[in-house]
Amino acid sequence: MSRTPFVGGNFKCTGTASSLTSLVKGFNDSITGYPEVEVVIAPGTEYLGLVKAVAHRNIGISAQNCVPKSGAYTGEMSAEQVKDMGLPYVILGHSERRHVFRETDAEIAAKVKAALAQKLCVIFCVGEKLDEREANKTQEVCFHQMKAALTTIAPADWKNIVIAYEPVWAIGTGKVASPEQAQEATALIRSWLSDNINASVASSTRILYGGSVNAKNCADLWARRDIDGFLVGGASTKPEFSEIVKACV
Ligand code: PEP
Repeated sequence: MSRTPFVGGNFKCTGTASSLTSLVKGFNDSITGYPEVEVVIAPGTEYLGLVKAVAHRNIGISAQNCVPKSGAYTGEMSAEQVKDMGLPYVILGHSERRHVFRETDAEIAAKVKAALAQKLCVIFCVGEKLDEREANKTQEVCFHQMKAALTTIAPADWKNIVIAYEPVWAIGTGKVASPEQAQEATALIRSWLSDNINASVASSTRILYGGSVNAKNCADLWARRDIDGFLVGGASTKPEFSEIVKACV
């Protein structure tokens, strides 16, 4: 089955109204010429409205996180509010949420469930830390993270899941996984989908690689069979993001 390439840009907690406006205006010119790639950008919560207003309609806008319920949760944004803002996507399970903010598998699973109930598309991140890779636990960690959040998804909701394999040791470090490492892990993730969900979900679900992707290293990664695109952090806040999109055409 052919899968539509997907490239996400996670701006994290960076940018200002002025810098993001000029960055996104630049993307409007450079990225929208590649309609065959699904491109999504995720600015910080405070800039979601601004970026949505500035971005070309072919560039999707994503929240970087959400909580399951609206209510007395100071500083948070709920799945319902993401939907209400007209945002089609949310990133969940990002390693910074897991390891800096100590989100548990159970919390992430509840977020995934709530986001899917709002018909959001979830960019679900998994990946191992350096010590786990060195202890040959990459498969165990990724499978555990997927089992915790993805085994109870209704069949109809799988079209709204994109999985990003993001080894923690590669995120923001400049140490990109080799194409072989990234292919091995994304193929393992696809085999988990086949074994635990079904063959059709395994062949249709987009699996991304994320971790120090840039304009120079993306072509070799993109050439790998099970890599359907990228989740990009640092390089998505620069004009080179459009080169990464172009590589996936
Ligand atoms: C990320 O934050 O998801 C990421 C992959 O960051 P970077 O590209 O900067 O490593």
